[in-house]
Amino acid sequence: MAETKATCPYCGVGCGVIIQHDGERVIEVRGDPDHPANFGRLCTKGSTLHFTARPETRLLFPELRQNRAEPRARVSWDQALDTAADKFASVIHTHGPDAVGFYLSGQLLTEDYYVFNKLAKGLIGSNNVDTNSRLCMSSAVAAYKQTLGADAPPCSYEDFDHADCLLIAGANPAFAHPIAFRRIEAAKAARPGMKIIVVDPRRTDTAASADLHLAILPGTDIWLFNAMLHVLLWDGYVNMPWIREHTEGFEALREAVREATPVVASGICGVSADDIVTAARWWGEAQTPLSLWCMGLNQSHHGTHNGTALIALSLAVGKIGQPGCGPFSLTGQPNAMGGREVGGLSNLLSAHRDLANPAHRAEVAALWGVESVPEKPGLSAIEMFEAVRAGQIKALWIACTNPAHSMPQQALIREALEKCEFVVLQEAYATTETAPYADLLLPALSWAEKEGTVTNSERRITHVNAAVPGPGETRADWVIARDFALKLGEKLGRADTARLFDYPTVESIFKEHADTTRGRDLDITGLSYAVLDELGPQQWPFPEGVQQGVSHLYADGKFETTTGKAQFIVPATSLTSESIDARYPLRLTTGRLRDQWHGMSRTGKTARLYAHVDEPRIELNKADIGRRGLRDGDLVRVRSRRGSIILRAHATEEVRPGHAFIAMHWGRNVLSSAGVNELTLNNIDPYSKQPELKHAAVQIEKIELPHQALLMRSAVYAEVANGLALERAAALEPWLRKFDYAAVSLAGRDFAIVVLRIAHSTPIPAEWLEQLDVLMDLQGEHCMAYADARRGVSKKALVEEGMLTGLRLTGETAAGGWLKELMIERASIDTVRRWLFAPLPKAPVSSIGRGRIVCNCLNVSENEIRSAVADGKDLAALQDALKCGTSCGSCVPELKRLVAEGNKAVVQ
Ligand code: SF4
Repeated sequence: MAETKATCPYCGVGCGVIIQHDGERVIEVRGDPDHPANFGRLCTKGSTLHFTARPETRLLFPELRQNRAEPRARVSWDQALDTAADKFASVIHTHGPDAVGFYLSGQLLTEDYYVFNKLAKGLIGSNNVDTNSRLCMSSAVAAYKQTLGADAPPCSYEDFDHADCLLIAGANPAFAHPIAFRRIEAAKAARPGMKIIVVDPRRTDTAASADLHLAILPGTDIWLFNAMLHVLLWDGYVNMPWIREHTEGFEALREAVREATPVVASGICGVSADDIVTAARWWGEAQTPLSLWCMGLNQSHHGTHNGTALIALSLAVGKIGQPGCGPFSLTGQPNAMGGREVGGLSNLLSAHRDLANPAHRAEVAALWGVESVPEKPGLSAIEMFEAVRAGQIKALWIACTNPAHSMPQQALIREALEKCEFVVLQEAYATTETAPYADLLLPALSWAEKEGTVTNSERRITHVNAAVPGPGETRADWVIARDFALKLGEKLGRADTARLFDYPTVESIFKEHADTTRGRDLDITGLSYAVLDELGPQQWPFPEGVQQGVSHLYADGKFETTTGKAQFIVPATSLTSESIDARYPLRLTTGRLRDQWHGMSRTGKTARLYAHVDEPRIELNKADIGRRGLRDGDLVRVRSRRGSIILRAHATEEVRPGHAFIAMHWGRNVLSSAGVNELTLNNIDPYSKQPELKHAAVQIEKIELPHQALLMRSAVYAEVANGLALERAAALEPWLRKFDYAAVSLAGRDFAIVVLRIAHSTPIPAEWLEQLDVLMDLQGEHCMAYADARRGVSKKALVEEGMLTGLRLTGETAAGGWLKELMIERASIDTVRRWLFAPLPKAPVSSIGRGRIVCNCLNVSENEIRSAVADGKDLAALQDALKCGTSCGSCVPELKRLVAEGNKAVVQ
């Protein structure tokens, strides 16, 4: 067994991992104890990474189709890249360089990004390079640049250990950045006096852990921050000497917040004036106030000003650049920051240079040795797909991202992809929602197979190593970009192409990138792969001659603005871009689940990651469920002004009455609809061009789909169970669109089970059921069947080795829950054999019925936890008895909540 160091490819915490492998296959993964982001810890997603390194759904060979009516066929790499180069060259010759576009991803490594950026801006002469980081971090970038002068989070994770007031706004790190949240929990445990304020419309696990939860109405953040500033001014907490010396623009902001009293803000934000005052005073009294934000602020049509208003709170008290202080934006994706470092957005150039700045363009042209870098601004993500839809962009290259799932207003994205003359998709996975639109599919390496660097939320660069070779003919993303550039340059008649893309190794790209940063705010001329390997991951800046990166920026009170002074910005005071009304009365917000990542191309392949939430759903307050005559689990149609989807309603206290929540992960390859982005709107922030993915106004109505079915299939032997489940899940995907509602998921732990849920308005045709039985292999001598044609009920149960390994319930699905648990537990059916076809909603024997799994690592269920809490166990006793929450810790916030709920029930 060999070990290789890399990073987790999911969130921006950027945890270090050690991949255990045999040189061919990934066997295990564990946290890297030496990595300063996580010190050995991993969350549920990171600790199950090795389960995702499977070949079943990987794209293995280049595939090309000559026209849209034909299926794609396997081609050689040479033929694939020649075709792409021909097509791009032809479009460029005929329509100009801006008729092509590149849409990249925060999942790419920095070196991959660098080559793509040079390919578009240095070779083709177009700035049409944008990335899915536009959907994620661009508002934070714009906010930092407007206030502090540079796209540089000034803080570090170690600040959690020093902050005495932590204001978390628009972020749910308990789910989205779990290891950062573990560090916050540890800081709070070590210093219980530390105040934690959470601003979030939902009572997330993060909010439930706070000393003060401000459950504001979506889009009202600026009013809250302005009111807090108002209180800071009124109560004398503002540091005027520091403001006079180190900032500009305060008077205008002071004037703007004059009317933003806590009472006024209370009416707008929907929280009490007293709570606003408390939050402001805790902030003002703190020696070390630290703010933390993420998508809840960024994904708004005033996302930039959400950020500047929050940053103003740090500037107003003069607390920035010291341990425990400052405004700290959490990066969503693992390498969104690395992409920006090399200028991987349509408005940026290498090393944080601005495209709009002629001097910066000239510097980059000189560094690259090209005549010029184009002046015309490139198109941002939303604009780019609009240009594709309008026929202005005719050839689109998509790398490592899934716009047919992640972009807002999906109907428009599908239209754009259908209209585009030539779509190239460079991907590791064959099954993403975007893949069907690709004329050319190029197989890319994935996690554990790639070398390069990534930068996490705290500006820390890690050298990521390849542990195993990629399957089939997969290639590194930078190799694909380089080889395409070489072919395209030839067709464009560019004699300098070979020199421009003379990259024999991945490190040669890093060296060139580092060179472009010389003298810039992110100077990393002192770094190399050898230095990173010797000293470990380092924060930038790290110029030549230093031995260590910088943990806190602006310690000297000098900022990266032209005057050297931080800027106060008077923010917009508009609210959400879409108001609720009588027709669309619910405020929908979107976000993440604890155990899934983005479009689930990786986490969706791991059965145990479905144990926490096993089916797509809309979360509604219990009062709204009752008021609408719904029951928990009913199917509802959710409609916005842009589209509608059908989901199961889930009753919860986490969302306020009048609000709703849908996770972002579920898309068309697991669901009969495109998921929540069928509903979201593409209004963008004027500065960051980031769309308002977080909020939309919706209505719901109960929908009667009386013809329901549930199909499940496992396997007898572990070696084949996961592979078969993945293959069957992929084969079921085209079936999803046949039904009014259908969702496919996995269940189980070591023996994956594929689960298909169907609800339809008309009887499900018998021939469809027969075809599904064949697909799920629900046949043969071990398959028992029951049918009652008069009632439209038919059932099948496959029993192998004394266990239930396959099931189809049609017309009567009440027993699906406990039968699924029977399959998951791989229990003998001896005691329940005679009830297999009975419509029992609960298991006939008490040994079945563990309920939803809360602790994924130790496989502990909600029922077991609730029963222990009812016996009087507190968190420590619970952990001692059941061991839940003692491994990765991702479930600890939920355990605390269950303990608190149990205690409340006892008091009542
Ligand atoms: Fe990966 Fe979890 Fe760490 Fe994020 S917190 S980088 S998902 S292990």
